Amino acid sequence: MTTRRIGLLGGTFDPIHRGHTDLATAAQAALGLTQVLVIPANVPPHRPKPLTSSFHRFAMTALVVAGRQGWRASDVELRHEAPSYTVTTLRRFQERGYAPHELFFLIGADAFRDIASWRDYPSIFERAHFAVVSRPGHPVSALRDHLPALASRMLDATPGVDVPAKPAIFLIDADTADVSSTALRAALGRGERLDGHVDPRVQQHIEQHGLYRFGSTERRHAL
Ligand code: ATP
Ligand code: MG
Repeated sequence: MTTRRIGLLGGTFDPIHRGHTDLATAAQAALGLTQVLVIPANVPPHRPKPLTSSFHRFAMTALVVAGRQGWRASDVELRHEAPSYTVTTLRRFQERGYAPHELFFLIGADAFRDIASWRDYPSIFERAHFAVVSRPGHPVSALRDHLPALASRMLDATPGVDVPAKPAIFLIDADTADVSSTALRAALGRGERLDGHVDPRVQQHIEQHGLYRFGSTERRHAL
């Protein structure tokens, strides 16, 4: 059987942007991922509510994966009413027959810095490889110092790197677009255009549906 290497990229994707696709593209190249599943999250009650509905966030994700070899939009988290912890999502994949060494949880270095506060830390590292990608202002090179308890599990990933059977934490130092969903929502709320920070199909979807205009949630409910 050919090796399966499945990248899982979770996020709010409100909206999905170039930083997200750059992250997954870099991980796909460095680790030879055979699939990339982009997984919009149900947002927990203690986090700010997304400006757009789960339906629009999933639609934008589906537009981004269209035509990308091996990429899929996954509704695994949205299908469940309650927000999913990452460990729960990884367990669901294991219940469907995926082994930990076949799964690569993709994450930006900013989010990874908080990993010690995640549910099931540190046993979460037994459930999948982690692939951490630099984000502007958050180089992966700083992570060994920031998270010394995890340094012995960290491996620098460059194309062709050996993937051990025991799940590891791969560090991928790639350039990704210097953009955030927060900045995009603010720009759209001011009536600005997005200038290449999102896929043209996502830009069209946002304009066609008037998403993020005036930055208000009332707007969403008005339709
Ligand atoms: P928000 O501003 O709403 O927090 P975001 O742009 O940070 O949105 P998220 O949905 O929070 O996007 O991020 C999902 C994942 O993508 C996280 O692992 C995050 O670290 C990563 N990520 C987001 N933007 C970038 C970027 N520009 N470069 C690299 N990784 C990124
Ligand atoms: Mg974020």
